[in-house]
Amino acid sequence: MQTIYMDNAATTQPCGESVARAEQYLKENYFNPSAMYKEGFALSRELKAAREKLVSYVADTASYDLTFTSCGTEADNTAVFGYARRGNAVTSAGEHSAILAPFAELKNRNVAETRFAPLEADGRVNVGKLLELVDEKTTFVSVMHVNNETGAINDINAVAKKVKEKNPRVVFHSDGVQGFGKIPFRLGKEVDLYSLSAHKIGGLKGTGALIRKKALPIRPYLFGGGQENGWRSGTENVFGVKTLEYAAEKKFSSLAADYERLASYRESLWSALDPGIFARLSPKDGTPYILTVSARGLRGEILLHLADDRGLIIGTGSACSSNEKSRYSHVVLACGYDKITADGVLRLSFSPATTKEETERAAQILNACARELLERTK
Ligand code: PLP
Repeated sequence: MQTIYMDNAATTQPCGESVARAEQYLKENYFNPSAMYKEGFALSRELKAAREKLVSYVADTASYDLTFTSCGTEADNTAVFGYARRGNAVTSAGEHSAILAPFAELKNRNVAETRFAPLEADGRVNVGKLLELVDEKTTFVSVMHVNNETGAINDINAVAKKVKEKNPRVVFHSDGVQGFGKIPFRLGKEVDLYSLSAHKIGGLKGTGALIRKKALPIRPYLFGGGQENGWRSGTENVFGVKTLEYAAEKKFSSLAADYERLASYRESLWSALDPGIFARLSPKDGTPYILTVSARGLRGEILLHLADDRGLIIGTGSACSSNEKSRYSHVVLACGYDKITADGVLRLSFSPATTKEETERAAQILNACARELLERTK
């Protein structure tokens, strides 16, 4: 049985071609990029070039810089703890735990008051309500680019602009982990910080980055040897960085075509699902990489296992929040859905490698699993 992998929002298969290209940095070119001899120096130049190349895909390299981190979570934490100051910090109720947990910590440590804007029914932040929370004491605002559970896209450039109109001193951050390399997009000048993660686009787990406006003061989260221009101490993961660089090169070269193709696959998958069982949670104008549905009245977790037994790997929402042992997704509840809908949530997420045949087969498997479960629960 050929397994169909549709949990790409949790992680993607590392791109074999990118790993092979980067392999020399594990084997022959393993030097410390901070070393003074020419081999080390050559690697530090390669890291600099990789930073610029990655920034160039989404922003102007004259205005933005990039720091490598150990993951998207570290990039998010660096932004929160680096820039939230006395006063208040604002985010949305739909953020990933990589933002919500550091926000909770800001409050625990008495660093700042924390404020959470509600969501629209599709998972976008309610911009009007967010703006009401921003005042002259706000130091930091974080709004994710693409919601990892519903796939809703926030127009972060427009949100950042409105936030800065209310308070120009705010540092505006966006968690771009589900957006970078997938959504046609460039950073508007009001966005100060943008997080990304390699393993969502064919890179390796354990590599991330924070894009930062050069004009912002450097406020490290990790202190030590002063690597990354003092921004983030710790010897750089050169192999991970080079794999990310090559994987991003590949993703950005076909971004528009992948976007169109996956949008049509997502729609045909949705229309092949039994309308008597499945309700759609993902908005039509959301990312084509995610289709979230709910089998109302059935448990998503049981359907996930039934589908797994038939060779279809899917998620019930965020892989990270599933560790928290909370039965219901905070995002789905924040969208205003009841617990019955939240219980039946399934997330199918794609990569450019996903084929039309796989989406057709996935719909058949899900319909069969849901019908079987319905029979059993009668
Ligand atoms: N932010 C979002 C929106 C995510 O989807 C994830 C991972 O699922 C993260 C942050 C965390 O990224 P990482 O796994 O690289 O720490």
